[in-house]
Amino acid sequence: MTTAFDGLPPLRQVLEAHGLDPRKALGQNFLLDLNLTGRIARQAAPLEGATVVEVGPGPGGLTRALLAHGAGKVIAIEKDPRCTPALAQIADHYPGRLEVIEGDALAIDPASLCDGPFKIVANLPYNVGTQLLLNWITGPNWPPRWTDLTLMFQKEVAERIVAGPDDDHYGRLGVLCGWRTDAEILFDVSREAFTPPPKVTSAIVRIVPKTAPLPARLADIERVTAAAFGQRRKMLRQSVKSVGGEALLERAGIDPTRRAETLSVAEFVRLANALAA
Ligand code: SAM
Repeated sequence: MTTAFDGLPPLRQVLEAHGLDPRKALGQNFLLDLNLTGRIARQAAPLEGATVVEVGPGPGGLTRALLAHGAGKVIAIEKDPRCTPALAQIADHYPGRLEVIEGDALAIDPASLCDGPFKIVANLPYNVGTQLLLNWITGPNWPPRWTDLTLMFQKEVAERIVAGPDDDHYGRLGVLCGWRTDAEILFDVSREAFTPPPKVTSAIVRIVPKTAPLPARLADIERVTAAAFGQRRKMLRQSVKSVGGEALLERAGIDPTRRAETLSVAEFVRLANALAA
């Protein structure tokens, strides 16, 4: 039997052995190149001894890279029970270091799975990737217990996460991420790297929580960004009418003829605080 660098079977063989034909409904675009999963794992450094929560391990390409690069413990949440036997083989190979949770990551708070600080590393299923990120960055306690996120998204979503004012991709996601985190795109991953190839290019994003975001209530940030970007081409005096209109803009010291996409995160924070005033 052929083995890969870590002594486990090559991933293509794993897919065949366990009948893991990729399912679109589960966002299954697998990475079978262990050099690439190794490169992704290294972006989450330092891994030595760290606790990592991985969403959607699938056949385990990224999981194996995280363990080979020294992660002390990987807790992997996978919705597809067909992946369990392949993951069990990895768990046997790294005794006590891989815990697999069969379940829906949308319904699981990763902080409930471990004590102390942890990282989240994932090649996310595209259909729920944005929602998962929103769940992790809108937690009630800030800073969160996760120390960093290293995540694969469709490139277009990655661009929305890191976008700032006057960028076409700037919107609610960019404001929320810019308020609470520092986010950067590390590198693109071409369609051909996946089995099967998705329709668009992907990108790896690294997200680190700000220890002290500008003070504001999350609910207020959400209200003002929803209103402002709900009609992004309109002037603010029109788009924020439902949450206070010109009076709100005046309290926040923001010119009512500006448009949402020109406001900095700090200005959205001023708007949110004016709402609460
Ligand atoms: N990590 C593997 C890789 O890089 O080859 C698989 C990545 S694939 C893009 C996404 C994985 O997430 C699939 O294994 C899929 O079954 C799993 N998945 C989809 N929806 C999920 C959910 N709601 N909760 C947990 N896992 C999910």
